[in-house]
Amino acid sequence: MNKIVLLGPPGCGKGTQSKLLVEEQKFYQLSTGDLLREQTGNSNSEYGQKIKDIMKKGDLVPDEIVINLIVEKILIYKNESVIFDGFPRNLNQAEVLDDSLEKNSINLNFAILLDVDFDILKERILKRIKDSPEEARSDDNLETLNKRIDVYKSDTFPIVDYYENKGILKRLNGMDSIENINKEILKIIN
Ligand code: AMP
Repeated sequence: MNKIVLLGPPGCGKGTQSKLLVEEQKFYQLSTGDLLREQTGNSNSEYGQKIKDIMKKGDLVPDEIVINLIVEKILIYKNESVIFDGFPRNLNQAEVLDDSLEKNSINLNFAILLDVDFDILKERILKRIKDSPEEARSDDNLETLNKRIDVYKSDTFPIVDYYENKGILKRLNGMDSIENINKEILKIIN
């Protein structure tokens, strides 16, 4: 059973590639963004409003909240192939993920980075917002996008070196077509 981290900036296609792995390879997708959005929609959630405000601004939700949400799922899906989408997003989260996996004798097989050009990325997201405003999320706007890219560069990008040093990093061209990236991912995991 494969356990994979998918890394890359907002809008690079992590969600799209994860969904393909779910449909074609029976992966289970653990997306912290989705888990957090569930909390914001739950009126009983202790942190719902706080999380909503942070996500709207494009900042990272505090580690303790995100880690609590994800760690319990790791055990549930221990015997499944899992794709971590949007987690870890900083070094502390990467270390906590390693600890939790190790404690449960689970191996992280690969961290796959979807590498993209930031200017093209911005154009892509702005086009997406313009073409289908009804599907835009509350964090889909230029100000939040710029913030999310800054947070990616400062907090998330250092994880690339972390996984490189562990010898499990694979880099893919995130500007390639959805189909080609999917093929490359399948080559890595199979
Ligand atoms: P995403 O759906 O992955 O693009 O995430 C949307 C937003 O959720 C991010 O901009 C963050 O505010 C929050 N978020 C998602 N995953 C994490 C994480 N691992 N750590 C902290 N915040 C997160």
